[in-house]
Amino acid sequence: MTLDETQNGRRDSLVRATAADGLIRCMSAVTTNTVAEAARRHGTTGTVTAALGRTLTGALLLGAGQKEFDRLTVQVECDGPVGGITAETNSHGRVRGYVREPHADAPLNAQGKFDVSAVVGGGMLYVTYESGFDIGLYREPYRGAVPIVSGEIGEDFAYYLAKSEQIPSAVMLGVLVRARESGETFVEAAGGLMIQVMPGADEKVVAAIEFTVSRTPHTTALIREGARPLDLLRTALGEVPFEVLEEREVGFNCTCSYERAASLVSSIDGAELESMLKEDKGASLTCHFCNETYRIDEPSLAAMVEKSRNGLG
Ligand code: ZN
Repeated sequence: MTLDETQNGRRDSLVRATAADGLIRCMSAVTTNTVAEAARRHGTTGTVTAALGRTLTGALLLGAGQKEFDRLTVQVECDGPVGGITAETNSHGRVRGYVREPHADAPLNAQGKFDVSAVVGGGMLYVTYESGFDIGLYREPYRGAVPIVSGEIGEDFAYYLAKSEQIPSAVMLGVLVRARESGETFVEAAGGLMIQVMPGADEKVVAAIEFTVSRTPHTTALIREGARPLDLLRTALGEVPFEVLEEREVGFNCTCSYERAASLVSSIDGAELESMLKEDKGASLTCHFCNETYRIDEPSLAAMVEKSRNGLG
């Protein structure tokens, strides 16, 4: 099977399942296209693609395990060359994200792989759940924070779940980035798996899962061979029966628009708007999350200045 048949023609998706009478939550996802889109938009190096892709995938999996939230933000505030990673997801499988330094890089590690922990370094991992927007009732966000323990991202998500949410978990996040002869890199496979153990789960089942998980090949090796999220779960859970609750499409998707950019520009102070009109003959605004640039042309900006003069801005 070629790569085109296994991935490019198929949309990314995520499966949510339970085992052990609902006391074990299992989430798995194939995110090859999502990560490729993030890499394309931000022009990231191979190492940063792997770091950002793991964070995006981890955010999607973490979000799938939660019932109620409108927005989940994962922030890696780190002192390594990448400078920081942000991923944001909603409860419908949309995810977007960016890094502070897309061109950061590090030498390959001892295994000849992209060295994610070297570009991340040390720092903190923050997870914020916000809810209530859609019913006009903004609740106090829940925010958890843990120090970065590995910088490989997957282990950091597991540490966060154990320490901050008191949920022992197995987390596997993978992004397989390959280099073409030209030196240009591309995402061949990406995805992950998250298994969360709730209090009271059958110890024998937990031990059985720990055993199969420890022997599971890299998620990206399976995805490269055509595995879908359900196949990843079957491999990780072995003989343990599980019930699929939901399968949903996931993808890189930003909420920005020209209208939002224009509304933001129009809220700028009148004097500053006038100088932008005079000096730049317009304004441009780039979305951090997706790197899309919106250009407010001269006539549109002139109309904003006019409105602001009349006290309507
Ligand atoms: Zn955007």
